[in-house]
Amino acid sequence: MVATAPETTAGKAEAGWFDRFLDDWNPGSGEPKEVREPATGQPLLTRRLSTLEDVARAAAAAAAAQPAWAETNYLERVRILRRAADIYEAHRDEFGTWTQRETGAVFNKMHHESNFAYQEILNAATLPSQPLGSLMPSAQQERMSIVRRVPIGVIGAITPWNSPSVLGMRVVAPALALGNAVVLKPDPQTPACGGAMFAAVFRDAGLPEGLLQIVLGGAEVGEAIVTDPNVRAVSFTGSTAAGRRVGTLAGGLLKKVSLELGGNNAFVVLDDADVDAAASAGAYSAFQFQGQVCFAAGRHIVHRSVAKDYIDALVEKAARLRLGDPYREEVDLGPIVNEKQLARVDGIVRRSVDGGARLAVGGTHEGLFYRPTVLADVTTGLPAWTDEIFGPVAPVVVFDTDEEALRLANDSEYGLAGAVYSGSTSRGLAFAQQIRSGMVHVNDQTVNDEAIIPFGGMGASGNGGRFGGAANWDEFTQWQWVTVRDTPKSFPKPY
Ligand code: NAD
Repeated sequence: MVATAPETTAGKAEAGWFDRFLDDWNPGSGEPKEVREPATGQPLLTRRLSTLEDVARAAAAAAAAQPAWAETNYLERVRILRRAADIYEAHRDEFGTWTQRETGAVFNKMHHESNFAYQEILNAATLPSQPLGSLMPSAQQERMSIVRRVPIGVIGAITPWNSPSVLGMRVVAPALALGNAVVLKPDPQTPACGGAMFAAVFRDAGLPEGLLQIVLGGAEVGEAIVTDPNVRAVSFTGSTAAGRRVGTLAGGLLKKVSLELGGNNAFVVLDDADVDAAASAGAYSAFQFQGQVCFAAGRHIVHRSVAKDYIDALVEKAARLRLGDPYREEVDLGPIVNEKQLARVDGIVRRSVDGGARLAVGGTHEGLFYRPTVLADVTTGLPAWTDEIFGPVAPVVVFDTDEEALRLANDSEYGLAGAVYSGSTSRGLAFAQQIRSGMVHVNDQTVNDEAIIPFGGMGASGNGGRFGGAANWDEFTQWQWVTVRDTPKSFPKPY
């Protein structure tokens, strides 16, 4: 097992607290797995994956630790979460370095992700002091009737590689705050920023032993978490295909399962929109982090009268974006995460061009560095329209009437995010409210998140689960009805 500490280049600090933690961090006992830096292809870190026995051990240890944690004074849980927030904040640059190197994120994306992850912990620290339930009226007046929230037990958390710290933190922090234990499995590409970071932060925050277990591995390890009898609920973020499998397994075992899945998000530009502002937002939400974002703008639906100006502006912006190694150079876009994903993005672009789309810019790549791409003359049967691309590609479809635009916006099995640009707030709002998506914005881009907002999708983007704010209570607790009588009730004869 070799941990290669981040180099001291590009103004990065010498290996510090987190790297020392990583040196000794070995959660798995299976086959070694090497992580390569997408930008350079160089080995970054090697760790053993978890075996199925490791998963069972982790889940059993979490289940053993959880009841005492659920009984722990709420102030102690607040204290630990606040400490975790401080530790995260103090070391966010170190975590950010690993995020950049493991995922190929540019500085701005990494910075936003760290902010969101920090906000998730701060918000979770408020949960233990909130009311647990209600004193209810009862038709049987001589009894006291209480409904209260109780922890679920052990939560299995499975996260993707694209934003591992925030997508993990939105489960780990509130689940722990509300008295649960967690078994977390990051993607095999991100063991450090998606796994070790959590272990380091919560260890130093004083979280009692056993409550947070990290396991490493792919689909097989993920399925072992889902089916483990000690895991009572599953929180999965990833592709719709894997989510269907997780949902099927969890459903068969009658487990609560929350699925946050893919998106193919509509970005609508009405005829009265500020086209420059719309193109700036459209380019940002299509290209930033190489388009590898679940709520990226995947379908640009633009009124015919402004379509040429919009496409010209997108092309001009796409051509200006600088590609390179985001850890060592000041660039706007980094690499696609791996060859498989690159081939997928390129395949969708090629098949769409073969089917009649016009390549306005891009469509080429050097190694994993894919040029931001604008596709014009897109029609609704093409893969660039129907599929989640998860790459820096902006397909543009033109419409003539608002009714047509709305039909196009809702022409997707997904329903994660959406955006509408209009010069009239009331017109934009009226349009936005008819888009079938879990999140929708007027005169803003699609990539928006806040820890206090219930984040989630509709349709094939999820199964109704939500993260954040009040929704955390629904995700990470279950209801219990408790009644109490001073005098035992008497029942009619023959009872
Ligand atoms: P993926 O589904 O391949 O992998 C996600 C995680 O699931 C990984 O940890 C992986 O190892 C694990 N996994 C894969 N198959 C599994 C199985 N059968 N059982 C259990 N675990 C399994 O997704 P990806 O390609 O890594 O991530 C990109 C996808 O995630 C995109 O579709 C994107 O839209 C989606 N995503 C959604 C959100 C959201 O909040 N809705 C956020 C980020 C990413």
